[in-house]
Amino acid sequence: MDHLRLYLQGDDSTAERLREVLVREGFHLVDPREPAPASARIMVELEASSPRDTARRIEDLERSVLELRNLDVAKSQFLTNVSHELRTPLTAIVTYGEILRDGLLGEIAPRQREAIESMIGSCRQLLGMIEEILTYARTNAPAIDIRPADLPLDEVVETVREMNASLLERKSLRFGCELADRLPHACADRDKVAHVLGNLIGNAIKFTPEGGWVQVRATAAGQPGWLQVEVADSGIGIDREHHELIFREFAQVDASRSRVHHGTGLGLSIARRFVELHGGRIWVESRLGEGSRFFFTLPSMEADGAPAAATDPGA
Ligand code: ADP
Repeated sequence: MDHLRLYLQGDDSTAERLREVLVREGFHLVDPREPAPASARIMVELEASSPRDTARRIEDLERSVLELRNLDVAKSQFLTNVSHELRTPLTAIVTYGEILRDGLLGEIAPRQREAIESMIGSCRQLLGMIEEILTYARTNAPAIDIRPADLPLDEVVETVREMNASLLERKSLRFGCELADRLPHACADRDKVAHVLGNLIGNAIKFTPEGGWVQVRATAAGQPGWLQVEVADSGIGIDREHHELIFREFAQVDASRSRVHHGTGLGLSIARRFVELHGGRIWVESRLGEGSRFFFTLPSMEADGAPAAATDPGA
């Protein structure tokens, strides 16, 4: 029995999905006999009874992967087009709503103002979801890159907290931020980190009932040259069997029509992509009914201000 070794570029979740597909296709995977070379992020070793038959099946798989990739590009293009088309009229509705609310077209009664406020609120919620879909489509573009710079995490956490202040207040949630003493700055892209924190803190607020808490912590306690950020909440929690699933595109634990919480199911997959672009990783520790703790890692600045070496701390 021959062993066939495949070396590929990709992240942990891609490796996991690739293994699932290969097993589904009837390949027998074996534990690698040697570690993968540094240039390859994924190594899969297969048992091959007949090398020619295996080569043919791998060619078939390659063709399927290419077809899927083309479909994926078409899906992203479709999402971009539809989102753009929806964004323009929605923005106009918000603008006219604000003109009406502010009485620029004549006096309005308090109950009319309330109705217009709630119309504007719903439109803004829709616009937020459309923005997320557009970010997702952009995130999938092959040319996406990051601009790492000296980034003090406390500033980003504060910006995200301010953006969520009214939601925190409405649900009477306590918000805490605890950064380790003399925490080095991150060497990271400000917008991308703000997006990741915005998603994690937004979810923590969304899935925590009134009167609970949301806590952000950051330490440099793990691998040298890396920071670990945690967003914890006292909310509904997530069953173990969904811990990997929720990081996939469009995945939601409660996908029923009657679900209470709104969202696109894209936030965590975008967050994962942004963290992995920095060479870091993101994961969750949680149990149903016992709150959630989301973690991610980012490269830190070294003491002299030079970017630290970026190797995956989880590798
Ligand atoms: P969205 O929030 O738009 O549905 P996300 O990708 O951000 O999409 O999250 C995917 C799913 O993961 C959510 O629908 C929810 O089921 C679960 N989830 C995420 N964060 C939390 C949290 N803090 N507590 C409980 N469940 C969560």
